[in-house]
Amino acid sequence: MQSVSNYNFSGKKALVRVDFNVPLNDRFEITDDTRIKATIPTIEKILKDGGSVILMSHLGRPKDGPTEKYSLKHLVTPLSIVFGVQVKFATDCIGDDAVELAEALKPGEILLLENLRFYKEEEKGDVDFAKKLARLGDVWVNDAFGTAHRAHASTAVVGQFFNEKVSGYVMQAELDNAKKILENAERPFTAIMGGSKISDKILIIEQLLDKVDNLIIGGGMTYTFTLAEGGKIGKSICEPDKVELAKSLLEKAKAKGVKLYMPVDNVCADDFNNNANRQTVTTGEIPDGWEGLDIGPKSVELFQKVVAESKTILWNGPMGVFEFPNFAIGTNAIADAVVKATEENGAFSLIGGGDSASAVNNAGYGDRVSYVSTGGGALLEYMEGKVLPGVAALE
Ligand code: AMP
Repeated sequence: MQSVSNYNFSGKKALVRVDFNVPLNDRFEITDDTRIKATIPTIEKILKDGGSVILMSHLGRPKDGPTEKYSLKHLVTPLSIVFGVQVKFATDCIGDDAVELAEALKPGEILLLENLRFYKEEEKGDVDFAKKLARLGDVWVNDAFGTAHRAHASTAVVGQFFNEKVSGYVMQAELDNAKKILENAERPFTAIMGGSKISDKILIIEQLLDKVDNLIIGGGMTYTFTLAEGGKIGKSICEPDKVELAKSLLEKAKAKGVKLYMPVDNVCADDFNNNANRQTVTTGEIPDGWEGLDIGPKSVELFQKVVAESKTILWNGPMGVFEFPNFAIGTNAIADAVVKATEENGAFSLIGGGDSASAVNNAGYGDRVSYVSTGGGALLEYMEGKVLPGVAALE
């Protein structure tokens, strides 16, 4: 795979797929620019080489074509500030103005295309649409790991129209770090899986059972396991139709010699809100009308000990409803333990996308773990052993 670091972009127009799917508030201001900042090294490298950059991305999930709310024009000013050049904007990603602006682009300049998903052809992976995008650049750079699991026009299909295909720094870092975990993990290797549902994580958990020494399970998915073991879970989130699956996972872990750790106590609430009444109970003893929203202090102690003894840590999914500060204590305590293991014991820690990444960033720990992945679903699919179309297109 050709990497951005050893490709010379001098005189080239680089068509760069980025993931600028950033959250915007009611005034169309960016509330978290992590994804934009992540692309700075790739874009600066191209400009420094004497190339020009044509940025393409999606934003949100527009249903019926152009929508003000999902327009990438809201990013023109913030991007101009970040990159120190006035970013040009094409109001139609494959229109005449895009072609004209791309043709006139000089070395050192940046052109941003309007939201790719204003055309339904993008998500359909339409070949003609991809061909029209390809007209705009001389070389295709894919730096959008977060959408690499989708065979969309700009993330994969467009690759067939280029002789020169280059992976950006974000893509490279994501793949390198995921490979490090999957292929070269120093032991003991501990995976911490949380989040709401077992059904979302089952494939990755099964894959990990072949690789890890310890598997910690927390968050909402625990209650399906508790149910499988005949415990009382009150009105906690659970998937009764996945009870058999939970049982078979427990058996598989045992057969493979993986040490499985589940919460031994739970903080439960009488309502799903931050100010609900709280009580801590032993696992399997949640009273009727109450729901488990966090792991309890004994579980924190147990999990912290396992994390402290680990040399490789993969974490995906919060330990509870961390969006409510009163139920974020378990998640924050685990974040704390992962940071300690990284800083004090030299463990390699990868935080896997989505909610666990925001939990770690919210706690101010983003720079104190080894790597925070920006690719939620893509990282999970990669770890499940699937071929990512956006990566395959680069090869
Ligand atoms: P996921 O996207 O599967 O990683 O799940 C993340 C979501 O799971 C977060 O929004 C959490 O609020 C939610 N979650 C974690 N623990 C619980 C729980 N005990 N009950 C309900 N939701 C939970």
